[in-house]
Amino acid sequence: MLRLAGLTKAYAGTKALKDISLSVPHGQMIAVIGRSGAGKSTLLRLLNRLIEPSSGSIRFDDSEVTALRGADLRRWRSQAAMIFQNYNLAPRLDVLTNVMVGASMEVPQWRRLCRLYTREERLRAARILDDLGLLDKALERAERLSGGQQQRVAIARALMQSPRLVLADEPVASLDPHNSQVVMETLNWINRQHGITVICNLHDLDLARKYADRVIGLRDGIKVFDGAVAALTPAVLNDIYGSAADMDGSYAAERSTGIAIPTLAMPG
Ligand code: ADP
Repeated sequence: MLRLAGLTKAYAGTKALKDISLSVPHGQMIAVIGRSGAGKSTLLRLLNRLIEPSSGSIRFDDSEVTALRGADLRRWRSQAAMIFQNYNLAPRLDVLTNVMVGASMEVPQWRRLCRLYTREERLRAARILDDLGLLDKALERAERLSGGQQQRVAIARALMQSPRLVLADEPVASLDPHNSQVVMETLNWINRQHGITVICNLHDLDLARKYADRVIGLRDGIKVFDGAVAALTPAVLNDIYGSAADMDGSYAAERSTGIAIPTLAMPG
């Protein structure tokens, strides 16, 4: 169980996240939605301890994540595997090596630097790639793969970390609709197959509806919704995204929600 209590993050002068409390049982697939700047990315980075909270608590089972230091903190970062919009692969290294990087917690630094991996590590990485349908790409340079394939390699690397949580920050924002579906299916598969909790920031409401068990809506750093996909009524969406008049142009609200948004007069 992951438990957040009063989690707050302030940057100089701005509160990016305000007093967030929630509990996540193991094995849920959660979509975090909200407009750009709502605090979605800040939330995931706090969970992974890439950034430090201003106040509040993050508990995972019996451990207080905000108190972890040294090797315990490195282990947590590895167990709370992050997936980023831009994949964060080493483009010139082959796919198999990119996946094996995920084993780095267990691999001494000298072996990592020399990229010396054991037979067991290679086999494990190959098995994960096979599970994700990418074994035939194992020896290709990562940069030669399509965006969707690269994001699935990033998911394979996350699996290599034996994660207890997968935190995906806009994982499909750079992908076309077909590849977005494939990547979301892959996240869904690791959630169902391995029982790993997945928390995924999504811009696209259709994908949140299709793949999440539970949706958390943020607005200006405040949790304004936490519930099932079925409870995402037009009134709730209005709370999360604001009224049609102040909707930002990048958000295809009408397509996603079915709510008729009046056409705004665009300058020029
Ligand atoms: P989202 O992921 O929903 O787009 P973010 O978590 O990236 O939102 O940002 C939340 C708020 O925090 C925004 O107002 C953003 O400008 C601010 N913010 C994020 N990162 C920083 C930073 N490193 N320094 C100052 N302000 C930041």
